[in-house]
Amino acid sequence: MYNKTPVDEIRSAALDKAGIRLLVKREDQNHPFISGNKWWKLKYNIEEALKQHRTVLTFGGAYSNHIYAVAAAAKEHGLSSIGIIRGEETLPPNATLSFAKGNGMQLHYVSREDYRKKNDPEFVQMLHEKYGEFYLIPEGGTNSLAVKGCAEFASETLLPIDFDHLMLPVGTGGTMAGIVCGLQGRRKVTGVAALKNGDFLKTEIDKLIRESSGSTYENWSLLTSYHHGGYAKVTNELLDFMKTIKTEHDLPLDHVYTGKLLWAVMKEIDMGQFARGTTVLALHTGGLQGSLVR
Ligand SMILES: *Cc1c(COP(=O)(O)O)cnc(C)c1O
Repeated sequence: MYNKTPVDEIRSAALDKAGIRLLVKREDQNHPFISGNKWWKLKYNIEEALKQHRTVLTFGGAYSNHIYAVAAAAKEHGLSSIGIIRGEETLPPNATLSFAKGNGMQLHYVSREDYRKKNDPEFVQMLHEKYGEFYLIPEGGTNSLAVKGCAEFASETLLPIDFDHLMLPVGTGGTMAGIVCGLQGRRKVTGVAALKNGDFLKTEIDKLIRESSGSTYENWSLLTSYHHGGYAKVTNELLDFMKTIKTEHDLPLDHVYTGKLLWAVMKEIDMGQFARGTTVLALHTGGLQGSLVR
């Protein structure tokens, strides 16, 4: 199930003054549960899982949009799912984890120390001994099949939109890499890192792009100073900003990714980073399930 999503225009006196047109691709509305970029990241992973496995296993924190989406996608496609959750179990489970459970996901809690081993072959072997056969989807869902899905999204859905400059939030960089691949050097793309010390992501994104397309592109960049203190950290200014955007423009945002994205978009426009006459497209990647602001 996939719903085609609208492109909304945000209007304000400040935007008029700067001579910028601001559009928002509402990909948060593409699916009620497998929302935003997660739908595209999972598309070919689920297809792969269905070919040879009955079970998918993945990793995430207690508020993870990825865990939420995998649980829903597995259920929709008749797969079993296992979530390896970072940290101790808290009872009752929060809304994200109770949704995952409700969709049949088996939750397995591991210490932060063990969680760090999630990519070690011995740790994965231990999981196989415990759970048998499964198709492994990495934390956040980023792998070559995720990049492929996001590239398809960019070429089929974003390219037909009349814009000059795309901005999107970045966690692992998988979505951004896929979008850059799908645009094949057309338009400009700026990512906004949702975590602190995000410079390493440039290397990650570059690597994912090369692996997937065999090329490099020059039409993208990453902003690393809009994290508001770190991953999932917030400031009162950010929360107030999100509330204002919701009230004035009827645009709901989450505090981990899309709130920081919109903040960055507005700041960059304020600072005159875009030439007059530029159409900026902000990608709403979803994530509203875990939002602090309603
Ligand atoms: C997972 C997620 C991201 C980050 O995507 P990456 O491919 O890991 O960079 C961005 N926005 C939302 C809402 C997400 O859930």
